[in-house]
Amino acid sequence: MALRPPARTMTATACTLLAASGLTACHHTTDPRSAAGTPTASRSGGHARSRRPAGRRSAGPPATRRPGGNTATTAQVTRTVEPSGPLPPVLSRIPVHGKIVFITIDDGWGEKDPAFVRLIRERRVPVTLFLTDLAIRKDYGYFRGLQRAGALIEDHTMTHPYLPKLSYARQKEQICASADIYASQYGSRPTLFRAPYGATGRDTLRAARDCGMKAVFFWREVVTGGRIAYQTSGRLHPGDILLVHFNPNMTADFKRLLHTVEKQGFKPGAIRKYLPARYFRQ
Ligand SMILES: [Zn+2]
Repeated sequence: MALRPPARTMTATACTLLAASGLTACHHTTDPRSAAGTPTASRSGGHARSRRPAGRRSAGPPATRRPGGNTATTAQVTRTVEPSGPLPPVLSRIPVHGKIVFITIDDGWGEKDPAFVRLIRERRVPVTLFLTDLAIRKDYGYFRGLQRAGALIEDHTMTHPYLPKLSYARQKEQICASADIYASQYGSRPTLFRAPYGATGRDTLRAARDCGMKAVFFWREVVTGGRIAYQTSGRLHPGDILLVHFNPNMTADFKRLLHTVEKQGFKPGAIRKYLPARYFRQ
């Protein structure tokens, strides 16, 4: 719990970072069907080149001599080849027809209440769990129970760091290592990722892609103690992704959340049913 800043801070930070990385997900509809095919990485590289005025090369920085004896301009030295493949889309909602919302539960700290597993199983609530290995490693079995009750197990790093402050290599380690552990613990390697605090930079998206993540999940509403903090107009909207955290009063809080969702005429949906199959292909 101590690792998590207040919801408002999370959203603001994440939105700033997302905006800085050229992505829109915080307050806009992101249609995964179109966003997934957007080659963000290669496209921005292309823009950088195409913006260079004609004749810039001759007017550019002087040639420098490299230790190997080769001559190159600074522009040539610093130009990097982007790995191929589009970056994963960042989703805060999923397009749906009808009154469906998606419940995601993060981290895994605290009490592992068997009553919560029973609640999910008996009421057949589809939930997606973004788990941090450090929070669950003493009791992988508890989450196996939730998986058997229908929960999806997805990736939320090894130790819940603020990823944009880490190098690409360390971000990749954080995302890939937990995915590998969950593959062996739960029989299926995650393909969906949520960044701690929702904080992503360009390297985060590259690392997520290179670890096999097909989408990065953000959210529309934060749920605390079973109460929803609405982002717009004080109510749920079709396709909203709700962010819940495992907490000490999980079962009672979750019942309150389900009651609120149902009272507004919504049903929790299974992400597998609404996202195209390519998001789950390993
Ligand atoms: Zn978290």
